[in-house]
Amino acid sequence: MRRGIWRGRHTPLRSAVVAGGLALTAAVAATLSPAAPSATAAGSAGRTHEVEYFTGPGAHPRHTEVPAATPARLTRGDRALSRAETAADGDVASVIDNGAPADKVDVVFVGDGYTAAQQDDFHADVRSKWAQISAVEPYAAYRSLFNVWSVDAVSNQSGVSGDPSKGVVKDTALDSYFWCDGTERLLCVDTGKVESYAAKAPEADLVIVLSNSAKYGGAGYAISSGVGYDGIATASSDHPDSDQVAVHETGHSVGDLADEYVYATNGTYTGAEPRESNATKLSAAQLTAEKRKWYRWIGQTSPDGGKVGAYEGGRYYPKGLNRPTENSIMRTLGREYSLPGREAMIAGFYRHASVLSSRTGAAAARAASLTVSVPKSASLSWYVDGTEVTAARGEKTVTPASLGVPSDGRPHTVMAKAADTSRAVKDPALRKLLTDSRTWKVPPTS
Ligand SMILES: [Zn+2]
Repeated sequence: MRRGIWRGRHTPLRSAVVAGGLALTAAVAATLSPAAPSATAAGSAGRTHEVEYFTGPGAHPRHTEVPAATPARLTRGDRALSRAETAADGDVASVIDNGAPADKVDVVFVGDGYTAAQQDDFHADVRSKWAQISAVEPYAAYRSLFNVWSVDAVSNQSGVSGDPSKGVVKDTALDSYFWCDGTERLLCVDTGKVESYAAKAPEADLVIVLSNSAKYGGAGYAISSGVGYDGIATASSDHPDSDQVAVHETGHSVGDLADEYVYATNGTYTGAEPRESNATKLSAAQLTAEKRKWYRWIGQTSPDGGKVGAYEGGRYYPKGLNRPTENSIMRTLGREYSLPGREAMIAGFYRHASVLSSRTGAAAARAASLTVSVPKSASLSWYVDGTEVTAARGEKTVTPASLGVPSDGRPHTVMAKAADTSRAVKDPALRKLLTDSRTWKVPPTS
């Protein structure tokens, strides 16, 4: 669905002060910050973006501002793409197709540092990276809600600037580079170029740049681009842990979750109750008494370890704010989402995808095959003229005839109904939204 899910809802240190903890707007994100040394070295766009990055697989993330385009020191090489290479540039392929884009979360991968001869490598890297990302719960339980697209960006040279060492400069389609803002693991990219490639995909709810490298690195950009998604994640293609950056970033964009790590120098939070579902000024007892935030989960054992409660420190403040669990992925890379975090992610998936989808139009002949897609945790039932066909419960492919639609010269209707019954959802208001149905008219046969 073409709505921004990569919403870039980081509430970084500086913006937390400037914007009062609200989501970054394009205006804020694009403002040159005199405090950021990199701003003076910005490329032609002269803008900066807030990015979140990670210094290692088990490390807490950090924030900084980086140029929107490549700094001048990384000039493009002098070899232009050949005619054949140019022809291959921008090709879009469907990597995983689970249904109509309107019914699914559409993830778009754009490759950088892959030559024309390496595009097959890129496609293989997309598959393995998506396999890693979607192995994390609740992605794993909801794989069928996602489509994955690849967009070929043909680079003159193989590899990425800054790999293996700081001085290495590669001529690549998206100008991605390590050592961004002086940080080795911060993998930046020309966001304008990324946007122009990502826009070639049928829909883009979530954009991930895969840079052709085995070096650990990545970044989460908080930007609002106006082309249908609101942020970009970068990841190195061949480091086994780089997928965790993208997983964490979707905690913000998809789950609307706050960071749960702190900056020691921030002291005590004294502002209003935070908007995000995983940060609160309240104690566990207060959450329960007032039925607020994650109260339904308190006391339950969380997949990231320990029990859900109210742990001191979160959303960049060591004191004055609490988080649901000791150490979820919103605090440290490589961890699981907490129970409340998983529920928030599932809510986010469903803001963009349907419990029930089907490619079959509004009419279906009696002998025609009807196929629907539902997540693993959804119940599925079929009805003929309003009466349930209990024998067909859970069947994802049927025909009106197999459901018992007779050849009696009359029109009939077939309906499929699905409801997600996942135990990872506790909020009754959310549960109510997780139902869907489709109806097909079956023309008369005799
Ligand atoms: Zn974060």
